[in-house]
Amino acid sequence: MGEFSPTTRNGDCEEIANPSTTYGRRRRNWIDAHGSVPARQVVDASCGNKHCIALRHSYLRPRVEQPRKYPKIAERVHRLKIGQHFDVRGVGTDERSRNRFRSGLYAAARLDKVSVRGQADGSVCVTKVGEWSSLRV
Ligand SMILES: [Zn+2]
Repeated sequence: MGEFSPTTRNGDCEEIANPSTTYGRRRRNWIDAHGSVPARQVVDASCGNKHCIALRHSYLRPRVEQPRKYPKIAERVHRLKIGQHFDVRGVGTDERSRNRFRSGLYAAARLDKVSVRGQADGSVCVTKVGEWSSLRV
């Protein structure tokens, strides 16, 4: 409950004065009550009120990936020379998140052979290791 950001009641909802901190507060309330938020999940408000932080209105749902995430990364890979690499942050350290990233990127990077290596800080190193021949079209 650390902060003294004032909250107001709105019907059944509890709203926070500073809307930009709503998500952080709602998430922290959830963690206080349930211990943790699983990877790739977000704490949303079931009442649909974006400013609501009431725990009884909070529920977990899977995070929605940006639809252009993998095509964008694939385009970046395509501009690399073979052997060059870059890091993508925030993928996660667990095997499931990494595999998910890997299959998403493999599907998007149809022109290039890529290698994806997970790193301890939750980022992954994406290396362009080759190009597919035009025969594969
Ligand atoms: Zn609510």
